[in-house]
Amino acid sequence: GIRFDGVVKRFGDNVVLRELDFAVAPGERVTLIGPSGSGKTTILRLLMTLEKVNDGVIWVNGHPLSHMRRGERLVPADEKHLHKVRGDIGMVFQQFNLFPNMSVLRNVTEAPVHVLKLSRDEANERARGLLDLVGLGDKADAHPAQLSGGQQQRVAIARALAMQPKILLLDEVTSALDPELVAGVLDVLRDIATETDITMLCVTHEMGFARDVSNRVLMFDQGQIVEEGSPEKIFSEPENQRTQDFLHAVL
Ligand code: ATP
Repeated sequence: GIRFDGVVKRFGDNVVLRELDFAVAPGERVTLIGPSGSGKTTILRLLMTLEKVNDGVIWVNGHPLSHMRRGERLVPADEKHLHKVRGDIGMVFQQFNLFPNMSVLRNVTEAPVHVLKLSRDEANERARGLLDLVGLGDKADAHPAQLSGGQQQRVAIARALAMQPKILLLDEVTSALDPELVAGVLDVLRDIATETDITMLCVTHEMGFARDVSNRVLMFDQGQIVEEGSPEKIFSEPENQRTQDFLHAVL
């Protein structure tokens, strides 16, 4: 699971997260919604250690992310610690960022071979299973440029899962896609949500997806959670005025 404990993140004078506290239990699927600039992407970037907190502690599966235990004390994490904790987390971005000069299969096997030290055969077997899962079993030998955006994004999902992360972060994974390609990607993520016990933390503007896939929705505004609850509650009976205004604007 994930826990944010009093997390503060500033960019210069801009306080993006204000003493943020929230937790995602193992196996839970949580969606972050809220207006542009409310800090949702920053939360995912902090988890990927692409940014550092200014204050507070982020915990990933019981380990502090930015710090490590030294006896009773927490001291700033070193690279080795970060690498280990980050290994539990996979991420899929808005932009697919596939390796253009490698086949689809190779895109999915690269990290398992080089980071997890799987044999080529093991990595290929795992990758073929995942390509089947995302509906691209017949595209293993294609190159990314030969695929549609939706297919490329499904390869990116298979690539993230190939590292067998316990936590999957999804940042606006459909927003760079042509509208007709969105459904295929969302179907794959729905399957993953129902067929695995992976913990998911999603940022999305697809409210239908948030409703189908998540157990809980957190509504953000100005770096704080203004309302949270089941998708049924948040989408059907939001209590907070800012949630109501936001949903009114996007639905
Ligand atoms: P969106 O829905 O538009 O993606 P968001 O809720 O994900 O918005 P963030 O991307 O987390 O919002 O940005 C929150 C705030 O932090 C914004 O005001 C943004 O300008 C600022 N910000 C984000 N990254 C940086 C950065 N690297 N340097 C300076 N400011 C940043």
